[in-house]
Amino acid sequence: MDEKVGVYVCHCGTNIAGTVDVEEVATWSGEQPNVAVARDYKFMCSSLGQELVEQDIKELGLTRVVVAACSPHMHEKTFRGACERAGLNPYLFEMANIREFDSWVTDDREAATHKAKSLIKGAIERVVHHQPLEPLPVEINPNTLVVGGGIAGISAALELADGGFHVYLVEREPSIGGHMAQLDKTFPTLDCSACILTPRMFDVGQHPNITLLSYSEVEKVDGYVGDFTATVRKKARYVNEELCTGCGICVEKCPQSVVDDVFEAGLGQRKVVYTPFPQAVPNYPVIDRENCIYFQRGKCKACEIFCPTEAIDFEQQDELIEIEVGCIILATGYDPFDARRIARYGYGQMANVFTSLEFERMVNAAGPTEGRIVLRDGETQPESIAIIHCVGSRDQNYNEYCSKVCCMYSLKFAHLVHERLPNAEVYNFYIDIRSAGKRYEEFYQRVLAEGANLIRGRAAEVTDVARLPDEEGKLIVQAEDTLIGQQRRIPVDMVVLSIGIQARHDATEVAQIFGLGCDFDGFFIERHPKLDPVFTMTEGISIVGTCQGPMDIPDSVAQGAAAAARVMSMITQGTVMMEPVRASINADQCSGCRICNNLCPYNAIVFHEDDEVSEVITALCQGCGSCVAACPSGAITGAHFTDEQLISQVVGVLWDVRQPELVPAEEG
Ligand SMILES: Cc1cc2nc3c(=O)[nH]c(=O)nc-3n(C[C@H](O)[C@H](O)[C@H](O)COP(=O)(O)OP(=O)(O)OC[C@H]3O[C@@H](n4cnc5c(N)ncnc54)[C@H](O)[C@@H]3O)c2cc1C
Repeated sequence: MDEKVGVYVCHCGTNIAGTVDVEEVATWSGEQPNVAVARDYKFMCSSLGQELVEQDIKELGLTRVVVAACSPHMHEKTFRGACERAGLNPYLFEMANIREFDSWVTDDREAATHKAKSLIKGAIERVVHHQPLEPLPVEINPNTLVVGGGIAGISAALELADGGFHVYLVEREPSIGGHMAQLDKTFPTLDCSACILTPRMFDVGQHPNITLLSYSEVEKVDGYVGDFTATVRKKARYVNEELCTGCGICVEKCPQSVVDDVFEAGLGQRKVVYTPFPQAVPNYPVIDRENCIYFQRGKCKACEIFCPTEAIDFEQQDELIEIEVGCIILATGYDPFDARRIARYGYGQMANVFTSLEFERMVNAAGPTEGRIVLRDGETQPESIAIIHCVGSRDQNYNEYCSKVCCMYSLKFAHLVHERLPNAEVYNFYIDIRSAGKRYEEFYQRVLAEGANLIRGRAAEVTDVARLPDEEGKLIVQAEDTLIGQQRRIPVDMVVLSIGIQARHDATEVAQIFGLGCDFDGFFIERHPKLDPVFTMTEGISIVGTCQGPMDIPDSVAQGAAAAARVMSMITQGTVMMEPVRASINADQCSGCRICNNLCPYNAIVFHEDDEVSEVITALCQGCGSCVAACPSGAITGAHFTDEQLISQVVGVLWDVRQPELVPAEEG
């Protein structure tokens, strides 16, 4: 083989050069077989660094390029671009990661320099076996699927629809709105949540470019960027949407009010025929089959009898609908932390311990207490309230991360208590206040000025066992006040637990349907946490809002808009270029065992019964390599990951072991 390889060693400021002797590595690289030129440079990713590569390709006639720098996730695309501009096929390039894999993981300069040589040697040996590849152009279907109708999904759907593109919005619940619909006021501006949300919900319901599929779930997704087919189950409401006028008579006449109302966070009960809340979109009711007397005992039908438009349909069945789209935006949101898991705070055991979502509903004028802050008896106004921050967050036993919104909404609660019960004492128990956001710190100062008592210390427990006369009949919050270094027992009438944000309980199953990954905490994984927080590793699928991680409403809205902008840019281009890294099957070698058929996570392999061989549908293949590794006859090849390329790289990395003088005597 007679290739001309250029090797470029990046200093990355001191990120690499602080630990690796980059000059020595470059000199050594220049002495390796096939290497025509080797240079080191301060920042290879800078325009000057890229120009260096381009110039050498043109002037020295390089046929292969290796850049030793950071992770390919950061800059593989950058350097492939540089090769392409200079007329070299971008796949004749290889990157050696001497930062994350080397300089960042050791202080030992000698070892780091040695490892850099090994990684570069592997890249040189590999790149000479690279083949030129051409990206696959794929046409983009201009329709988009948005899954989840909380504020993040609503924002994404409206941006796209207003831009003139059709959106299918699939929402699991009978109405869109998500958690924001349950909130009373929103920090730090104290806008009424419903007042700013409902116009957007209404717009979604009316928009000619939005097909809203509420009370529906995506069961299956086939295809690839530009051409996905989603199978959606539209659950039976037992109400004919064409005939229903949303008059509410069926709800009024339903004799059963036995079910805990999820929308009211369990504070109230709802009928078996229900619309989740007055501003629901769409505004058709649903019959809760599990609790309906008719479905259980075959009697009642009060709703049907009184419905003026004959819209009740007990025979209605679930429908399976297939929709074809080019891109998918997931906005499935979060689950609130289950306060029962922390038994020492007494939720579910002591009546007057509430969760923050219950409190949101309680202070809401449209909620079960019509906005009155009262104890569980529905009458008594508390004279003192403790608000415990970080319940289930920043805690090694539950979730180690910060839920980002609890400090601010806990301060919001302190403000609302002062507004509604001016004589009540409020105690906020916090670890430290996190008020990073526009006008958030100012809001914190405002609540302090209003007289909230902020006690720095994680509450140890909530008990109703009185030790002192003033504790009789009260809930006592015990905490170490870390500012004064003393244990404190604060007797109060009501405790509010500021529960954190968690990944949805079914996030893993949803991730599987869409071919995504979940992180350690269960949130969907983005393509890059800093540079590409809304796209995922699966081309054409974005994640927005709290399904990606804890965030507040402004960030959820911004993410929704960001994903929509990216999708619109793809749609207007008409086609996307897909990575040519794909598997292919040599039919002559295929034994027809079909092991690969069931293994492929993208359903990209078909079996031809006539010839008894399998074939990869190139457009569906994502190049994951599962089939390549599993094929017992070695009939499958992964483009850009051939055995020859990978084995050469391994042999290259082990260059020093192959040189007898470098192998320790006792082993040699
Ligand atoms: C007590 C409390 C108070 C808060 N107060 C504030 C505040 O004052 N200001 C602020 O900025 N933030 C506040 N927040 C945070 C706020 O709730 C979130 O930032 C916001 O609701 C996130 O919106 P989302 O669209 O990402 O998720 P969600 O609101 O959870 O919406 C997700 C939607 O997706 C649907 N869905 C889920 N799974 C599926 C599926 N598989 N298929 C179809 N649909 C699905 C759900 O039904 C839901 O409608 C508060 C949070 C809490 C817990």
